[in-house]
Amino acid sequence: MSIDFLALANPGVPGLHPYQPGKPVEELERELGISNSVKLASNENPLGLGPKARAAIERALPDLARYPDANGFALKAKLAQKLGVDAGQLILGNGSNELIDLVFHTFVSPGQQVVYSQYTFIVYALATQAHGAEAVVVPARDFGHDLDAMAAAITPATRLVCITNPNNPTGTFVGAAEIEAFMDKVPAEVLVVLDEAYTEYVAEDERIPSIDWLARYPNLIVSRTFSKAYGLAGLRVGYMVCHPELVEVLNRVREPFNCNSLALAAAEAALDDEAYLGEAVSLNREGMALYEAFFKEKGLKYIPSRANFITLDLQQDAGAVYQALLREGVIVRPIAGYGLPTCLRISIGLEQENRRCLEALAKVLG
Ligand SMILES: *Cc1c(COP(=O)(O)O)cnc(C)c1O
Repeated sequence: MSIDFLALANPGVPGLHPYQPGKPVEELERELGISNSVKLASNENPLGLGPKARAAIERALPDLARYPDANGFALKAKLAQKLGVDAGQLILGNGSNELIDLVFHTFVSPGQQVVYSQYTFIVYALATQAHGAEAVVVPARDFGHDLDAMAAAITPATRLVCITNPNNPTGTFVGAAEIEAFMDKVPAEVLVVLDEAYTEYVAEDERIPSIDWLARYPNLIVSRTFSKAYGLAGLRVGYMVCHPELVEVLNRVREPFNCNSLALAAAEAALDDEAYLGEAVSLNREGMALYEAFFKEKGLKYIPSRANFITLDLQQDAGAVYQALLREGVIVRPIAGYGLPTCLRISIGLEQENRRCLEALAKVLG
C-alpha cells in the first residue's frame, strides 16, 4: 500500500522543492575524475577555522555530554557588549537561516504577504511558500533592491519584508539613507528583516548603523551570522538583534537547545579574534580587486559587489561555462535558480585560488 505523504503535508509543502546546495568537493571530483579542485561556490571563508575559535572548540569538547546553554548566556553577553545593545535584544540561531525560519514560524500565516526583492536569498521564497503565504516579489533595480517599489508593494496583508544587504547572490548594496527612508514608510505592524550576513565585508565608512536604528524602529530585525567573515559556516551559528519584546515572542517558538555547545564557544572566541576578521576582510578586498581588474581587462560584465563574492554576467547561458570550469577543477555557483541564467557567482578565495579561477576562466572563454 502506498501513502500519498504529500497529500498529508501542510498546504505550502507540495509547492516546495529541496534547496540545491553546491555539491561537496569530494563528490564533484569523483564525478569528473579531477583532483585538487578549488571551491568558490558557497561564500565560505577561505581562511578556514580561526585559531581562537579552534582553541575554544577544543576546550569545549570535554563538556559535550551536557546540553548546551539554552540561553547562550556567554555569547549573548559578549555580543551585547560588542554591539552596544542589551542581551535581551539578542536571539541566537543554528545559523541565521534558522532564525529567518523562526520569524516565519512565529509571524507568517497563510494568506499573509511577504515582500522581498527579485534576485535575493532563496530562503525567503522557500519560507514564504512553506508557510502558505503570498510572495510579493518586487522587480530588482540594477540587480539590487528597489526600496521605493518595495515600500509601495506593502499592503494591509503584508506581515514581513525581507531585505538582504549586501544582497546575495548579486552583492548589491543599499546605503543607510535609502534604508532609513524606507523604514520611515513601513507601517509599525510590518516586520522588516534586514539580513546583514555580509556586513563585515562592507567598508566601515559605508556600513549601515542598523543597530542604532533599533530604538527608533521596533519592527526592525537585524540578522547576522558567523558563517561568512567569522569562518564558522559548518558550526551553524547566527543571531538577530531586535526589540526585547519581539525576542520574547520568538523565544516561545525557538527550540530550547538550537545552538550547540561547540558553536556557542567558537562564536564567542571568534568575536575576540580581531586579527582573523581583519585578515579575512583584507584578503577579500584584494581578491575582489583582482577579479574586477580581470573582468574589466577582458571586457566582461559583472555586478559590483560589497560582499565576499562577485557575480559575473556572461550575457549568454552560463551553464556551459560553469561545466567547462568544473572540468578545470574550479567550482563556482550557477544562479539560474535565482532567475539569473547568464550569471555565475564566484566566492572570493585565497589568492592562489582566485588566480586559478581566473586562469580557468581565461582558458574557457578563449
Ligand atoms: C550565507 C547567508 C546567510 C547565512 O546563513 P547561515 O544560516 O547563518 O549560515 C544568511 N543570509 C544570506 C543572505 C546569506 O547569503
